Amino acid sequence: MTTTSAFESVIGEFDPIIGLETHIELGTNSKMFCSCSAEFGGDPNTHVCPVCLGLPGSMPVVNRAAVESTIRMGLALNCSIASWCRFARKNYFYPDMPKDYQISQYDEPLCFDGYLDVTVVTDDGPQIFRVEIERVHMEEDTGKLTHAGGAGRIHGATHSLVDYNRAGIPLIEVVTKPITGTGRYAPEVAKAYVAELRDLMRALGVSDVRMEEGSLRCDVNVSLSRDGEPWGTRTETKNVNSLRSVERAVRSEMLRQADQLRSGERIIQETRHFHEETGDTTSGRSKEQAEDYRYFPEPDLVPVAPSAEWIEQLRTTLPEVPSVRRVRLRDSWGISDFEMQSLVNAGALNLIESTINAGVSEQAARKWWTGEFSRIAKERDCELEDLSVTPADILEVEILIASGDLTDKIARTVFEGVLAGDGSVTAVIDARGLKVVSDDGALLAAIEQALAEQPDVAEKIKSGKIQAAGAIVGAVMKLTKGQADAAKVRALLFEQLGVTE
Ligand code: ADP
Ligand code: MG
Ligand code: ZN
Repeated sequence: MTTTSAFESVIGEFDPIIGLETHIELGTNSKMFCSCSAEFGGDPNTHVCPVCLGLPGSMPVVNRAAVESTIRMGLALNCSIASWCRFARKNYFYPDMPKDYQISQYDEPLCFDGYLDVTVVTDDGPQIFRVEIERVHMEEDTGKLTHAGGAGRIHGATHSLVDYNRAGIPLIEVVTKPITGTGRYAPEVAKAYVAELRDLMRALGVSDVRMEEGSLRCDVNVSLSRDGEPWGTRTETKNVNSLRSVERAVRSEMLRQADQLRSGERIIQETRHFHEETGDTTSGRSKEQAEDYRYFPEPDLVPVAPSAEWIEQLRTTLPEVPSVRRVRLRDSWGISDFEMQSLVNAGALNLIESTINAGVSEQAARKWWTGEFSRIAKERDCELEDLSVTPADILEVEILIASGDLTDKIARTVFEGVLAGDGSVTAVIDARGLKVVSDDGALLAAIEQALAEQPDVAEKIKSGKIQAAGAIVGAVMKLTKGQADAAKVRALLFEQLGVTE
């Protein structure tokens, strides 16, 4: 059975429910509860102080910018904002948090009861799915452990190294309510939701969401149930950190659970790990017994009590929401709903917009990102935005096309070089000698050679079989390694043979 039909048969028998818990690092200058730098990277344990190291006697202070970002995110997600809420200690013993607890929010989240509409292209065209938001709360990130001597895993490691630079970075966690009614589109809805969340964070300017740096992580909950039966037991696939992986994790977990249920086994409530290489999930830790984090209100921090005026003032700072922006761009670019949705799904919208802002025509910007670059991204199994080509590169190439120095075809070769890491646009052009051969002498010499190699063609053309010219143009393109201007070759050929088209 192919994967597609296996998936179809799951849909025929079961109804999926999904739930997403997304952690996003905020782009604040300093950490959540101290003034250490929140910048990514740095030598291990250089962005640390007594507070984020949890030394006795140190006192945390809430980062106002992080609260502001969370409220703005909550408002953008149509949430209610708590007029009073507290932080809570989540106690656990693991050395990624030097305090032995993480400061989070428990039963008093700052934002709650919102929704986000996402669009997915279905067989019946673009369709809107409303994803209800349970809560948006604040917490701090943990440090990073590196297990040495055990193939990177804790089992078999000889020792572990800790880096607390990330410990205390402000995080917001956005938790959805169970998402029902998505049927076969469950994987796409999950992906579209995370993409929309990411775009919203970027539009708000609260995080630049660099997924490759792990600044957005998703826990993907999935359960299946048969028609008319109560909801099934969910599994929670942890730390899925790319849009594509979110989609794949939902799909593969649906397939696995269906297999399990069909063979009469029950689904165990557990966390699972997603593997990029195979697209599969494997069992993690069982959640049958709820872990006891012994939450209690954080005694060292005052409650967060945003005034109504502050909230209203923050509401006025909200940017155009992505859905409204898409309608505006769709109209300004004169494209259909369907085309717009394909651009969004390809993750091309922001890239196209910045390419246009860099000075490239709308059409060319769309063409590059949805054509050549999408093809390469698919081939490499990565997101468009992970490709090392910039709007400035595209502008540079488009200028060379406009001046006749590059053809579309040669331009593709140039980008292939740039994307292969061979250097800048100019470096690739120079290194590979890529430019249009438009010098008449060189073209005429190539035409002559082609005609000599196919002696019957000249007669055919002269006798009116103009389509025979294609064989010569093709041969000249080959002789010039595709660098001839085809229209010019054609014109020169007819001129040479004294034929008018
Ligand atoms: P936990 O602390 O165990 O991760 P949370 O309440 O924080 O639990 O998050 C659980 C997530 O799973 C939420 O997004 C919720 O909507 C979702 N969820 C709850 N029940 C189901 C279910 N039966 N199937 C799929 N997802 C579910
Ligand atoms: Mg969870
Ligand atoms: Zn610190």
